[in-house]
Amino acid sequence: MNRDIHALIAQMTLEEKAGMCSGLDFWHLKGVERLGIPSVMVTDGPHGLRKQKASADHLGLFDSVPATCFPSAAGLATSWDRDLIRQVGVALGEECQEENVAVLLGPGANIKRSPLCGRNFEYFSEDPYLSSQMAASHIQGVQSQGIGTSLKHFAVNNQEYRRMTTNAVVDERTLREIYLASFEGAVKEGQPWTVMSSYNKVNGTYASENEYLLTDILKDEWGHEGFVVSDWGAVDERDQALAAGLELEMPSSGGAGDQKVIDAVKSGKLSEEKLDQAVERLLRIIFKYVDHRKNNFTYDREAHHQIARKVASESMVLLKNEGGILPLGQGKKIAVIGPFAQKPRFQGGGSSHVTPTKLDIPIEEMKKLAGSNATVTYAEGYVLENDSIDESLLEKAKHAAKEADVVVVFAGLPDRYESEGYDRTHISIPVNQIRLIEEIAEAQSNLVVVLLNGAAVKMPWLNHTKAVIEGYLGGQAGGGAIADLLFGEVNPSGKLAETFPEQLSDSPSYLFFPGEEDRVEYREGLYVGYRYYDAKKIAPLFPFGYGLSYTTFEYTGIAVDKKELKDTETVNVHVTVKNTGDCAGKEIIQLYVNDIESTVNRPEKELKGFVKVDLLPGEEKTVAITLDKRSFAYYNVGIKDWHVESGEFAILVGSSSMNIHLQETVNIESTVTIKPIYTRNSTLGDIMRNPKQAAKIQKLIQGFQQGMGMGTDKQEADEHSEMMEAMTRFMPLRALASFSQGAVSEQMLAALIEELNE
Ligand code: BGC
Repeated sequence: MNRDIHALIAQMTLEEKAGMCSGLDFWHLKGVERLGIPSVMVTDGPHGLRKQKASADHLGLFDSVPATCFPSAAGLATSWDRDLIRQVGVALGEECQEENVAVLLGPGANIKRSPLCGRNFEYFSEDPYLSSQMAASHIQGVQSQGIGTSLKHFAVNNQEYRRMTTNAVVDERTLREIYLASFEGAVKEGQPWTVMSSYNKVNGTYASENEYLLTDILKDEWGHEGFVVSDWGAVDERDQALAAGLELEMPSSGGAGDQKVIDAVKSGKLSEEKLDQAVERLLRIIFKYVDHRKNNFTYDREAHHQIARKVASESMVLLKNEGGILPLGQGKKIAVIGPFAQKPRFQGGGSSHVTPTKLDIPIEEMKKLAGSNATVTYAEGYVLENDSIDESLLEKAKHAAKEADVVVVFAGLPDRYESEGYDRTHISIPVNQIRLIEEIAEAQSNLVVVLLNGAAVKMPWLNHTKAVIEGYLGGQAGGGAIADLLFGEVNPSGKLAETFPEQLSDSPSYLFFPGEEDRVEYREGLYVGYRYYDAKKIAPLFPFGYGLSYTTFEYTGIAVDKKELKDTETVNVHVTVKNTGDCAGKEIIQLYVNDIESTVNRPEKELKGFVKVDLLPGEEKTVAITLDKRSFAYYNVGIKDWHVESGEFAILVGSSSMNIHLQETVNIESTVTIKPIYTRNSTLGDIMRNPKQAAKIQKLIQGFQQGMGMGTDKQEADEHSEMMEAMTRFMPLRALASFSQGAVSEQMLAALIEELNE
């Protein structure tokens, strides 16, 4: 519908306009009845609706209307399946339509910097490209239903420890290449209606008041057209936040924030035009929702449950399968052990906590698929409430294990171990579970472990098992999905979106997480996740991109449509993969790029493309992945832009970050010349790198050599040249004058600098 937003704003009082910029209560925006501006609702997110029934506080976490609980982001990402995540988004959008929710608060695109972050289960990956692709697909799906999303938490919110006050200190290149890149792709490809600013400070300024982030980058550079909402309670000074580009403060500040804005406009501290722009952004989104409202819409609960089951089965990761113990055959005596089999952990704690429409119980789903002459027994084995070891539960479990052909132990992290609001302090599963696994292994060698947890755990017990399925937090249909995988109804195809370290101290941010007091320095820089393990040659327990299947795949060919290109061109990479096993399966083909020679530090490889293909036994498919400038570029802080250095780049294609099967190289020519500015302090080495400039300083070098008493004899000069070069590489130009005993004058130096800068 055509509406004159400007005319509407012109009719609003200053108080009404300021009022629009903060919530009515916990979950609603204000409306202006006399002007036909409705009050709309926003709710969490991201993997299910948490629409609180009545109470309007933040703490009624368990009092929400039933909604489909899909796997949380950690699980969604391990599907590496853009279409499937879009489908989840569509389903979420439909549920919002039924529940009159205008904006779903998610997805979260923060990078998993440390395995300890309490909210890792809500985030997609340690890799910005994968994370941005998953987030964009989620956003596209939800928004296709006329419902907005809120991409969160912008930005650099990678821990829960002191999340509302800590200052994340990150260098510009790392910020751009890792932490912002994850949001950038999601904003550009997904166009989220809203973006949620994070609680923390970024380089000294609260994200909610950070003009650089909210206006310069998000709005001006990336072209975000919607509005920015604060995380709940993230605003410190309301007027400064508005000036920085934060349109909506949530929840209601009881009028305090509005008053600050009114006062700031009246005193001239904040221009009314700025306020009008904020209101315009808000109104455009409110009416976008109004125009897409589907009255009396109802969604199909069962269909959504089935989508939840499908996506859960596609995202769980088969980590180990010795001797092909999985899939389990029919008619077996199966001992199922562990309380998660009856009371699965299927979602995380905090604001994303959903009341599911129904819940699959893993052991019940297993019984349905085990076959008519199978026996499925249950033993508790350990308690969930605390870590204490209960010897009698252990004994009973061992007995059940001995009687069975195979044991399936359900283990993982209890709710109390990970949640929004606090971080873990270690990456172990509870000791009572470890002891159980060890003891069961003695009683029964056919031991399968199913893990339910939101983030990486260490597995010193891995050798005791024959198979491990990483089930993550599989949502309300996770139990069915586990049964599907155990019995081969679905062939596992998920791959890790994060590295599983052998031990916490191997992880990149180990020494710098979660910082001291209110300051956390991201000193590992770009080397997050696999970028770090690659560089340090540390073998992880399971690498990024890893995951097994019940079939096998062969990578048979790679081709590029050009070997030489300019940085303004794209290159298509074709890869052929064949299913060499005897059941249908899906493979996630991963493409990484490596800059073979670079003047700046660059990771050994970086993910720049991926495709998930479905292959019947014997079938082969060729897929195409297009790479563009960004695939090869790094962020150059000098020119404040992405830059590709001319030269050779390797294109690496593999089944995980540590299993590269195919390789090609392309030569890229940069169309951008970065003109260095030469000063007295430019080093000789830097100048000599450019042959044209090298020629210009030859004369002065000779003068310098004379001054140093090195003579002009050709032979002598040759003998010394290598040594000289090494010695003088890091000498600043000014040293040519100061060491030359007068042979090189200050005037000569000034003339040379002028010539170099021509
Ligand atoms: C969380 C957000 C959430 C909001 C509303 C905050 O505490 O950080 O992710 O959307 O609450 O519940």
